Amino acid sequence: MAILDPGPADAEHIDAIIAACHGETITKILVSHTHADHSPGARLLKERTHAPIHAEGCHRPSRDLHLGEVNPLDASADMELEIDVYLKDGDVIAGHGWELEVIHTPGHTANHLAFAFCDGSGLFSADHVMGWSTSIVAPPDGSMRDYMASLDKLMARRDAVYWPGHGGTIEEVAPFLAGLKDHRLGRERAVLDRLSQGDETIAQMVEVVYRDVDKALHGAAALSMFAHLEDLVERGLVLCDKTAPSLATHYRLA
Ligand SMILES: [Zn+2]
Repeated sequence: MAILDPGPADAEHIDAIIAACHGETITKILVSHTHADHSPGARLLKERTHAPIHAEGCHRPSRDLHLGEVNPLDASADMELEIDVYLKDGDVIAGHGWELEVIHTPGHTANHLAFAFCDGSGLFSADHVMGWSTSIVAPPDGSMRDYMASLDKLMARRDAVYWPGHGGTIEEVAPFLAGLKDHRLGRERAVLDRLSQGDETIAQMVEVVYRDVDKALHGAAALSMFAHLEDLVERGLVLCDKTAPSLATHYRLA
C-alpha cells in the first residue's frame, strides 16, 4: 500500500493509519505538498514502516523573495521533510494492483502534486482542488498564475472523481473546476474594477470586494488579492509604484 499525506507528526494518528491498513505492507509514503497538516507525519510513518518518502521537492516559495520581504506563510510550512524519491510531472508510481500518475500542480505551493489512477477512475487533488472551500493562493509561497495554469491542466483531463485533501469526494468534476476558475476570474474582474474606480491599495479594495465577508478573514482576503495583483502586474495589466508588488504597494491600471 501507499499512504498519501500522513498528516501532522502525531504518533496516535500514525498508529491509526497503520491500524487502518489491517496488516498490509506500506511500501510508499507519498506527499502532495509541504504544509504542516499534510507532510510532517511522513517522518514518523517512515520510522515505523521503513517506506521511502516520495515528493516533488522541499518547501520553497513560488518566486524569490523581494528585498526585505517577510514571508507571512512560514508558520504553515514543513521545512523539515526528508525526501527519498523525487517525483516529477508524468512519473508513474505502481504498487500491487494500482498505478498512479504524478501531476505537478503548482499554485497553492510550488511543490504541489496531484496523483491520478492511470485507469482514469479518480484523482487525489490534495489542496489544489478542495471539497469544502477554495484553495489558499498567497504569495510568495503561492502563485495565482501557476494556480490558474494548474487548473487548466486538470480541466484538460478526464478523471472520473476527485478525492481532495479537505472536504468530501467531488463527483461532478468538470463543472466544479469550471466554477473554481469562474470564481477566480470574478475576483480578478473585481480588482480591475476597483482600480478603475480609483482604489490604489489592497486595504481599500478588500473593504469593498470582501464587504460581505467577516472582518476576521480580511487578512487572508488581502493575501488572495495580493496574488491576483502580482499576476496582473506580471501580465502587464497593472502597474505598481515600487519595484515589486507587495501588500503595501500602490497599484494602478496600466
Ligand atoms: Zn496546503
